[in-house]
Amino acid sequence: MHLYGTQTVNEKGHLAIGGVDVSELASQYGTPVMVYDTELFKKRANAFKKTFEDKGIKAQVAYASKAFSSIAIYQLAEQQGLSLDVVSGGELYTAVAAGFPRERIHFHGNNKSREEIIYAFEEKIGCMVVDNFLEIMLIKEIATERKQKMNVLIRVTPGVEAHTHDYITTGQEDSKFGFDLKNGQTDQAFNALHNHEYINFLGMHCHIGSQIFETDAFRFAAEVLMEKMVKWRETYQFICPVLNLGGGFGIRYTEEDQPLEPAVYVEEMAEVVKAMSEECEYPVPEIWIEPGRSLVGDAGTTIYSAGSTKEVPNVRTYVAVDGGMSDNIRPALYDAHYSSAAANRMNEPHDQQWTIAGKCCESGDKLVEKALLPNVETGDLIAIFCTGAYTYSMASNYNRLPRPAVVFAEKGQHQLVVRRETFEDLIKLDLPLQQLAKEIYE
Ligand code: PLP
Repeated sequence: MHLYGTQTVNEKGHLAIGGVDVSELASQYGTPVMVYDTELFKKRANAFKKTFEDKGIKAQVAYASKAFSSIAIYQLAEQQGLSLDVVSGGELYTAVAAGFPRERIHFHGNNKSREEIIYAFEEKIGCMVVDNFLEIMLIKEIATERKQKMNVLIRVTPGVEAHTHDYITTGQEDSKFGFDLKNGQTDQAFNALHNHEYINFLGMHCHIGSQIFETDAFRFAAEVLMEKMVKWRETYQFICPVLNLGGGFGIRYTEEDQPLEPAVYVEEMAEVVKAMSEECEYPVPEIWIEPGRSLVGDAGTTIYSAGSTKEVPNVRTYVAVDGGMSDNIRPALYDAHYSSAAANRMNEPHDQQWTIAGKCCESGDKLVEKALLPNVETGDLIAIFCTGAYTYSMASNYNRLPRPAVVFAEKGQHQLVVRRETFEDLIKLDLPLQQLAKEIYE
């Protein structure tokens, strides 16, 4: 069985994370509970940062906080010297509540509202990653009205799309995000922004995919963007100080996944950028990256309690847990695969095949198919590994299930960072039927 980060099996045969027995966490906070190994988060953050330092390249490593957004994780990111990528007013508000240094906040999104842009100006954030022509108009208008400067990057689609072990180069990229590099939109966006009195144009951003296990696609993207930067220097004598190559660094969900170390991705990017800078006598730009999943994905584990079981003879045996697609939509949404274990029976052979199902009213609410577990019984604890990214942040109250508690664990200590939702929380936005409506609908 593969254990992640600081995970161990303790003398009771229980899974421990950050030196804390998960059965203690389950007793104290209830289940489902999401447990983050903060040491692993820090290790990854430092690996990305240090590799840039070792290569002598100025960089910003921005935590792509869509992967898991909460005040405490933003504060942890801050402590590690990370920057922060937010994609909505809500994520920005969370960053503000966390006291995150505004100058290290980068604001993404393909449909930022006027209010969100004004909010970003009010908070004097570090950079807007501009996505489309409406946003260009709004930013220029708001900056001029407020007589306030804003740093901007433009998001571009460089014609490369990467997933796991493959990448494809595409001519015209069909994406809802950003400006196309090939059809001239990127030049148009550059021209609309780089000379503006209140715009400080920093350069380009791209994000080429997710769960990427190879480096060629990043190298290709870096090359394509550097070529464009060199052209802009030739044509407009303009030098871009920043190149943002996005996130997408893969993690190990199951044994089929073989991610690279953070250092490898960074080294290869740095190599291409440095080589091209040298060849074209272009000042080496600052490189920004935006890891999300690779910071929080395998650092997070969800602990559920086993409930009912059901055997479908000659087909499968189900064990149902006390959460499901409401706290982890990824298996139902895109057939994501996970590994699992019986967290209170770690030393027993995990040699029986189970389907771990959730408790939501959907046949498709299955968390792990073909999970190998012991002969689990009601009340056993089931750990699903690698659930730290795009799970809680995508969680819903489907079937009015309260969202789980989230806990950080490190060096034998633990801390609740998001409390479990209560039934009261579930109805706090509801309003009772009004008298008038009663008459109409009765
Ligand atoms: N940056 C951008 C613009 C993204 O859209 C995403 C994810 O969708 C990320 C960074 C983070 O990607 P990952 O979590 O795969 O590292």
